[in-house]
Amino acid sequence: MKYHLAVDVGGTWLRAAVFPLGETTPARRERIRTPRAGRPEAALVALLRELWPTDGEVLGIGVASPGPLDPSRGVILATPNIPAWRDFPLAAYLQDAFGVPVAVDNDANLAALGEWRYGAAQGHHDVLYLTVSTGIGAGVIVNDRLLHGAHGLAGELGHIPILPDGPLCGCGQRGHLEAVASGTAIARAAREALAAEEVSSLASLAAPPTAADVARAAHAGDALARRILAEAAGHLGRALAGFLHIFNPSIVILGGGVVQAGEVFLSPMEAALRAAVMHPAYLDGLTLTTAALGDDAGLLGALALAREFEKDGSVCDE
Ligand SMILES: [Zn+2]
Repeated sequence: MKYHLAVDVGGTWLRAAVFPLGETTPARRERIRTPRAGRPEAALVALLRELWPTDGEVLGIGVASPGPLDPSRGVILATPNIPAWRDFPLAAYLQDAFGVPVAVDNDANLAALGEWRYGAAQGHHDVLYLTVSTGIGAGVIVNDRLLHGAHGLAGELGHIPILPDGPLCGCGQRGHLEAVASGTAIARAAREALAAEEVSSLASLAAPPTAADVARAAHAGDALARRILAEAAGHLGRALAGFLHIFNPSIVILGGGVVQAGEVFLSPMEAALRAAVMHPAYLDGLTLTTAALGDDAGLLGALALAREFEKDGSVCDE
């Protein structure tokens, strides 16, 4: 038997799975809590050793990790949940440990790759993937290639500037899309409205409201909650119009917890998108859909990345 290994370095879980050649259902999978201290790379090696198949050959390992990182060298520049991985050569480290090819890419890029190969975007050539949760991540496929840019840093669509002097973004800048349209932004807007004594059912919660609380209240008809969601959705919809102008995708895939709010978020988002697009041709035949792979998007993207080795030996270069 021949296998690929896929790794997803998440904020909470470090997941890994073994996939038999040609299959998208893992033969085995394991997860451990993401180690925040010590030597997380040693924990990862131990996890992979535990999973390593004894009845065949491993052809390659793909790793999805939060960035910023350099996919061409497999170096993690910094990652918020694992402070020890600063300029850390993860691909070379795993290659030394296991003697097989290793490729590393940004988790949102790989979620896009996973949806393209195995999920909602199969058969498309130009794909825009956005995940809206605590942050906003994105991956873009242009003419059947994952967009990387000169240093592997392209596609950070959550960090386009929207509001001058706006709220602080997860990246340290102000007013980026992530700072006005993510789950974190929605929760902050609700907290600020309650502090300003606006009337809402959210005021009766024991703890400060989360984005999921805001979505629940919006579904129950709470006017403040609906307004907060509509504002965030409006920013996202207008930004999306900009992304359509730049990339002209045939499919937009929305992942992440915030879009689970459903129509109370998606309707105002679509209305803002339609109002901001420069010509209706951008919407012709455009599929706007939610992600198909759920929690496994990163893992399946890492699998797709590992399988790129078979094509011609160079990653994402068909
Ligand atoms: Zn930012």
